[in-house]
Amino acid sequence: MTSSKALKTAAYNREFDKMKDELLPSNCVRCGGWVDRHNGTLHHRLSRGKGGLNTRENLAPVTHECHDYIEKHPAESYKNGWSIPKYKKG
Ligand SMILES: [Zn+2]
Repeated sequence: MTSSKALKTAAYNREFDKMKDELLPSNCVRCGGWVDRHNGTLHHRLSRGKGGLNTRENLAPVTHECHDYIEKHPAESYKNGWSIPKYKKG
């Protein structure tokens, strides 16, 4: 009983995991602190819900603490470039 949506989600998550291997460890885009798989993650600058992809350009290393902060302060995040509200129109 695996829906195609569930398969897509699984593929997306595998891809995301692979990007963590490529991009971590690194420095948090907000606080500059050390980020590895244990104390942080990759933030989708354009959120997954808005169609954000697992690309280098769309992923930013963040500590869990900063990820929380970014999610809770969208206006400040857009201003600082930690998040983007939508894809730029070509
Ligand atoms: Zn941080």
